[in-house]
Amino acid sequence: HQANVSGNIDIDGISYTYYGSDQPVLKSISLSIKAGEKVALLGRTGCGKSTLLQLLTRNWDPQQGQISLDGVALPKWQEASLRKAITVVSQRVDVFNGSLRENLLLAKPDGSDSELEQVLQQVGLNSLLEGKGLDTWLGEGGRQISGGERRRIGIARALLHDAPILLMDEPTEGLDRRTEQQIIDLLLEHAKDKTVLFITHRLVGLNAMDQICLMDEGSITEQGTHESL
Ligand code: ATP
Ligand code: MG
Repeated sequence: HQANVSGNIDIDGISYTYYGSDQPVLKSISLSIKAGEKVALLGRTGCGKSTLLQLLTRNWDPQQGQISLDGVALPKWQEASLRKAITVVSQRVDVFNGSLRENLLLAKPDGSDSELEQVLQQVGLNSLLEGKGLDTWLGEGGRQISGGERRRIGIARALLHDAPILLMDEPTEGLDRRTEQQIIDLLLEHAKDKTVLFITHRLVGLNAMDQICLMDEGSITEQGTHESL
């Protein structure tokens, strides 16, 4: 089924209010991203960027408007097909109690050890392989991992999950600038032919975007190319 998804995203007038709140967090947002297009989303903290991402992965449904993928409204998609079509690097990466291998296989269940090791090299996590290698236990009772290592595990998963759509929520937050550039280059190379939505506070990677959207208080206030903004 995955092979059939080309990755056109249509966000059509969506509004979203969190349960128990009287203020909408997203106010009538519309945005079209064509298959293979790269779009950056920038905006102040709290303006609703991560909320939009949650709606795109259908963790919640908007109260108004709709989101379609390849012309089909998200609620009509099967959960499993959506998960195959979309890779997410979320703002907070979850590492669960399990081996390093298990933590990576989540993104690619049939990945071979050598494939996993190669990706760990790419994201600069080879040091995690010292000692017990892929059997290294992470999480409770396991190796303590730093915030930066946690991020890189999130990136490694994204590189392993070969889906036509890549959504990234500040994937390099907390990494130093040189590492940030390397990681963004790696992700964009991986996503060369994919549809990309890239949420960021920074400037790294923006020149590779087809569109840049500025968001403020739940609305898209400006939209254009890197040159025009
Ligand atoms: P940041 O750049 O800091 O990550 P953001 O643009 O991603 O910010 P969101 O996380 O989408 O912002 O949050 C938008 C608004 O919605 C904020 O005011 C936030 O407090 C509120 N909010 C986020 N998650 C919830 C939730 N689960 N329940 C209620 N309100 C929430
Ligand atoms: Mg956020």
